[in-house]
Amino acid sequence: MRGLILAVMAALALPGQIAFTRMESPHFELYTDGSKGRAADILEHFERVRSFFLQTINPRETPGKPRVVVLNSAKTFATFVERKSTIAYYLGLPHRDLIVVGPAGKGADNQTITHEYLHLLVHQAGMRIPLWMNEGIAEVYSTLQPVGQKMRVGTPIQGHMLRLRYDWLDIRQVLKAESYGSEEHVGPFYSMSWAIAHMLLLEDDLRPKWTRFTAAMERGIPIEQALRQAYGLTPQQLEQHVQGYIRGKTVNVVEFNFKWEEWKGAPATRPATALENGLTMVDLFLSGKDVAGAARHAERLAGEFPREAGPWEALLTARMWERNKEAGAVAAREAFARGTRNADLLALGASLGGAEARAMLDRALTVDPEHFEGLMELAALQLQAGEDGAAFATLQRVRRLGAADAARYVRLFVYAAQRSGNEAAAEAAVKEFRAYAVSERDKAEGEKMAGMMGRSVTGVLVEVGCSASGQVLHVDSGGVRAIPVDAGQTLRVSGVEFDLHCGVMKRKPRVRVGLSGEGKARALEILR
Ligand SMILES: [Zn+2]
Repeated sequence: MRGLILAVMAALALPGQIAFTRMESPHFELYTDGSKGRAADILEHFERVRSFFLQTINPRETPGKPRVVVLNSAKTFATFVERKSTIAYYLGLPHRDLIVVGPAGKGADNQTITHEYLHLLVHQAGMRIPLWMNEGIAEVYSTLQPVGQKMRVGTPIQGHMLRLRYDWLDIRQVLKAESYGSEEHVGPFYSMSWAIAHMLLLEDDLRPKWTRFTAAMERGIPIEQALRQAYGLTPQQLEQHVQGYIRGKTVNVVEFNFKWEEWKGAPATRPATALENGLTMVDLFLSGKDVAGAARHAERLAGEFPREAGPWEALLTARMWERNKEAGAVAAREAFARGTRNADLLALGASLGGAEARAMLDRALTVDPEHFEGLMELAALQLQAGEDGAAFATLQRVRRLGAADAARYVRLFVYAAQRSGNEAAAEAAVKEFRAYAVSERDKAEGEKMAGMMGRSVTGVLVEVGCSASGQVLHVDSGGVRAIPVDAGQTLRVSGVEFDLHCGVMKRKPRVRVGLSGEGKARALEILR
């Protein structure tokens, strides 16, 4: 009973509203509940770090400034984090990139910011990498600092070095971890992630193999196999290497010929509006996994600010997290009607169906003509509508294709290519996919697709020959081909209603003929 009352009181103690100060620099916006001095320093460092990575890896930035929330109240910050040891976090919300910085890191803000910014880059790049690698990279780069005309990367972190002398987790657990584990495991997990990433990224012999290693993992190859392929190491051997590396006399530190740009401008500063305050709270609730609280807040804001898309954008995220697609579709429509220009949300909204799906995709692809999910959704809708040629053209517009999405893309591409009579393109796509497939999953998928190749012919049906020995379909697919109908089974006819008769067709329909193993027709689909 006592526990219950305390729980209720804790719930009531949730911050209802914080009057934030809003600050803005060229590429970030920041909301703080406290010192403007600290907030301005944080913004300055974000701009520096961004300028560095813009030069070195040229990341793909999403439109819309990432939102940084600096909470100086320990009590407030604690309501949104699960672990006591957390000092900051990054969250890639569907409607916004969010970085929340707590009070504890004061004095070490730069390192924290660089760490969280790395998470943002990994997310924006669409990299699908294991937790240890995400944290490891972020930790290795967190100590980034200018030294003379260069940037130094990899300055050893004393806390990690010390901890690893007495605390060591089973490396196989670290490599496979999908969560941080219990409170006492968090520290060693970060330390080991840092040590592994540090060695693989900065050790002279290993550094050149990093790209291959990460690419393998993106393609879904299990970690042990990826390690063996890229480095020729088992997890146990990797563990020995890391131990030797950490205990050795030297740990590599690398200096790059890049500088960051100091941003000297003053951030535009003003009290946040009621809408901005509200939306920031919704994001914080979402980050604290209080999805119901976030949805309630967003709904109230939508009522208070009926012309704004923002509350509906956040509500769409909340509904999707609740796995409520119907309510999600409503939120997407409302956000669309209020002019949202967030391509991710528009593509998501279109995938939920509804009469406005096409219009949503039009807008998404105007904002970002190469938006992957947008192009995939549009092609799927075009195929549904029988616009096979248009679907094929849409899929040819895809320029950015992550390894993890390759199978899904090629499957749809092959389907559209075959339906639109581009057999050669379909075959080439499958061939290329199989050449690059390395994971067991992709290999099996490639084999399946190859098995489907040549099993159908798409073209114009010009004549059905009928004789005592059976029927023959004459299909023009860039040259007329005579396809005997499999006598053993009746021809299955599907698709658009059409009067099929023996002889020359007066109205010549586009068809796809499904073939048996011996190349005989066993199915005939009349296409629109
Ligand atoms: Zn992190």
